[in-house]
Amino acid sequence: MDMPLAHDNGRDINPAEHSTWDEIASTAETQPIKLIYICGYGRSGSTLLDILLGQQRSMFGGGEIIGLSQHVYLNDEYCACGERVRSCSFWQPVVEQWHAQQPPRFIEEFRRAQWKVGTVFSPRRWFGSRDLETFSSHTARLMRLMSDRSGKAAIVDSSKWPGRGMALAKIKGIDLHVIHLVRDVRGVAWSLSKAYEADASKGLQRVIVPKPLLYSAARWAYVNLAAEWLCRKVGPSKYLRIRYEDVAADPAGSLQRIASLAGIALDPRDYEAGEFNPVHQVAGNRLRMQKGIRVKSDDSWRKQMPEGKRRLLTRACGFLLARYGYPMGV
Ligand SMILES: [Zn+2]
Repeated sequence: MDMPLAHDNGRDINPAEHSTWDEIASTAETQPIKLIYICGYGRSGSTLLDILLGQQRSMFGGGEIIGLSQHVYLNDEYCACGERVRSCSFWQPVVEQWHAQQPPRFIEEFRRAQWKVGTVFSPRRWFGSRDLETFSSHTARLMRLMSDRSGKAAIVDSSKWPGRGMALAKIKGIDLHVIHLVRDVRGVAWSLSKAYEADASKGLQRVIVPKPLLYSAARWAYVNLAAEWLCRKVGPSKYLRIRYEDVAADPAGSLQRIASLAGIALDPRDYEAGEFNPVHQVAGNRLRMQKGIRVKSDDSWRKQMPEGKRRLLTRACGFLLARYGYPMGV
């Protein structure tokens, strides 16, 4: 059953119309925050999908929000707007308010709790009730501040970890919708087999070392199975499985499916031009530092990957490739 909207569909609330943060918060305090959580393995298009959703006037694309407190604010990394995050017009006031009047060492405790309760697969016995309480209360406050500051009907979080999705699902006041984003393992493993130099201003905080194909295949299967587990837990009315290749082929149709799951109306003017611009995504793929993005499927692996490697990955992950509707012979 759908829960009430945090704000009216697509209606923007301008923080400038309110005199204080408290006044903004009181307008929506009892309304759940609609959260669209993109879950899946790396290099599956989660940053691209976050950007597409974040361009809709009814949604705020936050990027990999788990990274905000883990390393982005700590290291003053770049936001997708081009500013460093401590100078960003969105995140600076949100984080300042989030930190305000908290006990000393709150952020260290939150980081530790966030990591324990929400990585790939976090069975309940791995963390204590205090960890869950620390994660839940501070995440709920952060999401509320983001919701109020943006004035959007929904927040998008592309942190990807299935365990985080489970922890988010337990937070009272968050109306969670899970998007399980999958990509052909052959494309994922090929992308991960390449090395990249660090370049902070282009969104690469550290050197990316190449990953062996079978390592990527095992992680791809593990994370996607954990994402399926999350989807079963939240129930069929609260999740959608969507393929990267389908998003790239039909961005507008994919956006409509996601909006419909979350009960949000889209304005066709936000996607008809076919050009997308990141706003304030923190952490994620280097794509978030680009402007004027035109969606195009990255299927370079089909031409570049040697046939033997393709066959190896197909054999290793055939059971999941078939389940997700990918052809075996490519
Ligand atoms: Zn920004």
